[in-house]
Amino acid sequence: METNRMPALFIGHGSPMNAIEDNEYNRGWAAAARDLPRPATILCISAHWETRGSFVTAEETPRTIHDFGGFPRALYEMQYPAPGQPELAARIAQLAPAASVQPATNWGLDHGTWSVLCRMYPQADIPVVQLSLDRSQDAPYHYQLGRQLNALRDEGVLIIGSGNIVHNLRLVVWEDTAFDWAVEFDTQAKEWMLSDNHEPLIHYETLGRSAALAINSAEHYLPLLYILGLKQPDDTLSFFNEKLWGGSLSMRCLRVG
Ligand code: ZN
Repeated sequence: METNRMPALFIGHGSPMNAIEDNEYNRGWAAAARDLPRPATILCISAHWETRGSFVTAEETPRTIHDFGGFPRALYEMQYPAPGQPELAARIAQLAPAASVQPATNWGLDHGTWSVLCRMYPQADIPVVQLSLDRSQDAPYHYQLGRQLNALRDEGVLIIGSGNIVHNLRLVVWEDTAFDWAVEFDTQAKEWMLSDNHEPLIHYETLGRSAALAINSAEHYLPLLYILGLKQPDDTLSFFNEKLWGGSLSMRCLRVG
């Protein structure tokens, strides 16, 4: 069926260094962008903006936030000067009234957003807006909020969840390897996504050891639930960058639609 509905993406972003290195992950992100229609606007749900209550960036010119420590100077000098789109906050508030979305002018673009977009859309000429993760809410809330944003896809908005399906920084090792429990949860999550079985993914807290280790702090996992919530019955689903790194990080990315 011919449709103008914009696909939606979940991007496994991993280390901020992926912004400035040339590697298989950011080449995968760039290829995914080339395969998409050009978005009118990008809405990003980043692991790195956790709030109480729901906020949407509403700056005309969002600043580039360097929200990490101990990286090379080149990473702190990175700027992603994409414009904002303050009116999108009102549209999101209209689509999701229960979320009581408020416009925010104290944020900008954190590295969950710009480290990925600088490889996908290096010209920074598409307006970018972020939606925060309301950590006072449970996982089903995030899935449902994603669902409510679906109309934006018909309005040319590319919705991106930016995090990692498996993300445990306490256990990370700085080498190219994968722990058994990380492979186990990443593989199981893939199977559930392929069969549109979202219930276990939403109720990940009941899944036992491998899920508990994979999702030890949840902020990198919750953006995935928005993208799963956006999936319509006739949307296709495909994966790229299907790889684990650092023992406890899954770089798996997902395209819906
Ligand atoms: Zn991150």
